[in-house]
Amino acid sequence: MADLLLEGVSLAGISRCHLRRSLRAKRIRIELRPDRSLLIVVPSGIREDQWLAFVLSKRQWIERNLQKSALQLSGRQTGTPAFPSTIDLLCRQQQYNINQHTGTQNRAMLVAETLNLFCKNPSEKQLFQNLRCWLMTQAREEFSARLGGISKATGLEWNRLSIRGQKTRWGSCSVQGNLSLNFKMLFLPSDLVDHVLLHELVHTLEMNHSHRFWALMKKFDPKFNQHRAELRKAGQLLPGWTVNL
Ligand SMILES: [Zn+2]
Repeated sequence: MADLLLEGVSLAGISRCHLRRSLRAKRIRIELRPDRSLLIVVPSGIREDQWLAFVLSKRQWIERNLQKSALQLSGRQTGTPAFPSTIDLLCRQQQYNINQHTGTQNRAMLVAETLNLFCKNPSEKQLFQNLRCWLMTQAREEFSARLGGISKATGLEWNRLSIRGQKTRWGSCSVQGNLSLNFKMLFLPSDLVDHVLLHELVHTLEMNHSHRFWALMKKFDPKFNQHRAELRKAGQLLPGWTVNL
């Protein structure tokens, strides 16, 4: 049976919804396609309000997986890109040239607008390692300062901050209030970075994505829906070579 294109169902971030009635399916199942369309497989005998309620209850799963595929996409499109000669930290609106040097130790040094990377044994792998190390330091500075600002404005507090290079998420928050943030957010616009930081800070009050959670997000950021939608596509903003980091 042909899949039915559902005109009436709209889910944030989803391009189209298709419905497939299946005689073999035992339960309702959803499948996210690479073109951001959603296939809903429904066993016979299940009413529209039943499968619709199921799909709506999976909104968080859909959102998480859309974000995941956006991040993976940014790496997959480019293969193994060469080491960059410039770097653009959108979050700071700053661009740097990168110079490579042979040195007695592996390190990075910023002089004016030039990032100097010193390698003992220059290789692309070592250069990427130095760059990653430098970016992690920059991310810690940048995100700490921003968290401080948001904390002041909202009264939300966090415990410890760790900077990571997660493959599939921008940030997370533990029950202890420890935040874990992805340094690759340096390549995102500052309002999206703040959106992620706020999201994680709100988790210190509400661990789940409950109604209360979204109400708090709205309270602290009236534009949170717009930011949330932009964040879904933000993986595309990462330079291709970040896949090597
Ligand atoms: Zn969350």
